[in-house]
Amino acid sequence: MLFWPWSRRTAKRPALQEPSETDITMMRRALALARSAVHTGEVPVGAVVFETATGRVIGEAFNRREGDHDPAAHAEFLAIRAASREMKEWRLVGCSLVVTLEPCVMCAGLIVNARVDRVLYGASDPKAGACESLYRVLDDRRLNHRPQVIGGVLAHESAELLRAFFRARRARTAR
Ligand SMILES: [Zn+2]
Repeated sequence: MLFWPWSRRTAKRPALQEPSETDITMMRRALALARSAVHTGEVPVGAVVFETATGRVIGEAFNRREGDHDPAAHAEFLAIRAASREMKEWRLVGCSLVVTLEPCVMCAGLIVNARVDRVLYGASDPKAGACESLYRVLDDRRLNHRPQVIGGVLAHESAELLRAFFRARRARTAR
């Protein structure tokens, strides 16, 4: 593996931190978005992008894969793009992303490309998670950006929402 001489210094990650009160408030907002997705038949996942310093929300979304007929319409993917449009800037420096479910490979790739500073997620996704579960895209020193990652934020609420959704869907299809 090849490292640039400066990679060790610039790739250093900040120490692990606890979510702030603002982070928790934002996760509750993302959970509310996820809940509103249920009524449209979407897998309930919600995401919010906000300015870390001010707490101003600059992008938010819920999963819209079914409605948009779009495999890329994951909550955090849509929220990041909305935030960039709002900021008129593709780099989301100084911004945090909260998302109720661990981001997948595609979304983790977008997080790196958008230079998001901080990522907070709720439930882990053992089948597709690319932050810790299956891959560690956000912690890969070969990439040029590594955000701070805090997982498990209000994870129980998020996981319960997903479980209830899939339980109801199984019950419907079993009928
Ligand atoms: Zn995704």
